[in-house]
Amino acid sequence: MFITVEGVEGAGKSTCLSYIGTYLKSAGYDPLLTREPGGTPLGEAVRGLLLGDDYAGMSSDTELLLMFAARAEHWASVISPAICAGRVVVSDRFTDATYAYQGGGRGIDPARISALEQWVLGEQRPDLTLLLDLPPEVGRERAARRGAPDRFEKERQAFFDRVRGCYLERARRYPDRIRIVDASQPLDAVQAQIGEVLREQILE
Ligand code: C5P
Repeated sequence: MFITVEGVEGAGKSTCLSYIGTYLKSAGYDPLLTREPGGTPLGEAVRGLLLGDDYAGMSSDTELLLMFAARAEHWASVISPAICAGRVVVSDRFTDATYAYQGGGRGIDPARISALEQWVLGEQRPDLTLLLDLPPEVGRERAARRGAPDRFEKERQAFFDRVRGCYLERARRYPDRIRIVDASQPLDAVQAQIGEVLREQILE
């Protein structure tokens, strides 16, 4: 089984990921928690290129292809083997983030993203995606308290409004896979909502 967690900056993905890990362990699973961009030594190196300032002027196409280069490695060497071995894999971001950030945010034609998705993943998709939704300005305020912004966090408000819009549009398009969680609620309410979805999707 493959679960992904998505959302704008400051939505609480990391906290949510460790909650899901603990939840699955207590239900008897041995989950593999991972993240994108990253998840492999090559992917983490690519993450450094994408988030740092050294290549801040890279084109949107370069950014898209680097995301997918990291994803190809992540999929082939980590995610796919773990799923085949019967493990539950939980990834902090996956291809929906590419549609939202490089598609919605940067304006790349989703058909291009879809072609790369097909190339790298074939027909494979996550089984369940938790979209932690909240107004981007609330998330950014939370993220700002974490310290220095990465290359994406320096984008303007309109960029994040497009990112959120694109995530919500995908949730409407794939309602069976993408479940919206109201991330503006207090943490215990967010976790209760996530627990409910997991119970319904995995344990039943
Ligand atoms: O999830 P996390 O905050 O660790 O992601 C790191 C950065 O990469 C974020 O600023 C996120 O917006 C950006 N990102 C992106 N496109 C993706 C995946 C992540 O712009 N496809």
